[in-house]
Amino acid sequence: MRTLIKRGNIYLEKSHRFEYTDLLIEDGRFVKIGKNIVDRSAKVIQISCSHRQILPGFIDLHCHLREPGQTHKESIKTGTIAAAKGGYTKLVAMGNTSPAMSSASIFRETLETIQKEAIIPVIQAGTISQDLEGKVLSEVFLQNMSHVYSDDGKGIQDEELMTQAVRLAKRNNSLLILHEEDCRYTDYKAESVMLERDLKIAIHENYPLHFTHLSSQESVKILFANKKSRNLFTADTTPHHLFFSAYDVVPDDTNYKVNPPLLTLDDQRALVKAIQGKLIDSIATDHAPHSKEEKNQDFKKAPCGISGFETAFPACYTKYRGSPYFTLKDLIHLFSTNPAKFLGIYDSEGSIEVGKKANLVIIDNLREKKVNESDLISRGKNTPFIGKFLRGWPILTMLEGEIVYEDSVARLDI
Ligand SMILES: [Zn+2]
Repeated sequence: MRTLIKRGNIYLEKSHRFEYTDLLIEDGRFVKIGKNIVDRSAKVIQISCSHRQILPGFIDLHCHLREPGQTHKESIKTGTIAAAKGGYTKLVAMGNTSPAMSSASIFRETLETIQKEAIIPVIQAGTISQDLEGKVLSEVFLQNMSHVYSDDGKGIQDEELMTQAVRLAKRNNSLLILHEEDCRYTDYKAESVMLERDLKIAIHENYPLHFTHLSSQESVKILFANKKSRNLFTADTTPHHLFFSAYDVVPDDTNYKVNPPLLTLDDQRALVKAIQGKLIDSIATDHAPHSKEEKNQDFKKAPCGISGFETAFPACYTKYRGSPYFTLKDLIHLFSTNPAKFLGIYDSEGSIEVGKKANLVIIDNLREKKVNESDLISRGKNTPFIGKFLRGWPILTMLEGEIVYEDSVARLDI
């Protein structure tokens, strides 16, 4: 099957700019990019407005799909449908499910469920330690069953175990995604103290590590201090840390309760500076859906997390469009290109180039819409973005040439 996108405003990685051009897709790949392509037998998508821009499909390095064990919060099916709506064409699902992604049999079963239920590809992360206990390396990790490992939700307290993990990752060329939280601290230092320790390990073992959902200026200072070892780390922060600070938190509203917590405006500015300095080089949702009952407890008892797939891009676009900090091009690198590189899949995704998978998202940058709970497809309605006006909404997501999400009011001429 062939699809022809006519006169799209397309971000082309090759020229590093947007160009009005046509795009021919065949058998799930981009086969031709150029002006005035004629193909009478292809299905034609006409994109006539300049405010609709075509970007490579987003790749999320950090989300929670809650399956197995917590499908009242989310499932592989509902999560991937929500992610497609957010413009995503690939996800890394964390392994703190119930049971956790530690034993080979559970891991294999989950891969089968993904095969059956997911509407976009999911890379299932294994846990680093067995059952997230931080004591020994997991069976899944020892058997090298995934490409990505994480104990997300907890930091690995034992330095010796962390060192072993880095050595094994190096042997297998695996990606470690690290949730940095040193339990001896209850404030922002929990993150930065462990980040400093793990950067030392990365340097000592000469193997790069990925630090996820960085939140504090202390952490940014540590990244800057290690600038000369830039090839030994990659990092992400989240849309909610870039959009909100502690100043925005509505007292007792558990939708703002997230780990790591929202910090000061100075911390937020430091994260932006780190993005500008290319020390934080990706944005991950940390999509963490929870049920109403769980979030409706008092602030101390309620679980941490924000349901993030559907608002991730519009949140960043709304907050930073027209700002001197970063441009739409930077957002493309943060949402697509760099995550593809970190996952080692950049030869086939992460940018719009001939020969690559036809994964794309069309953004309407004029469309402004209030976030309503009833519009959220995810089972998790726990988000402080409800009631906020955002723009830059995804109106169509394509995975390997197939439309996996289309806004009913997009009025694309198909
Ligand atoms: Zn985490």
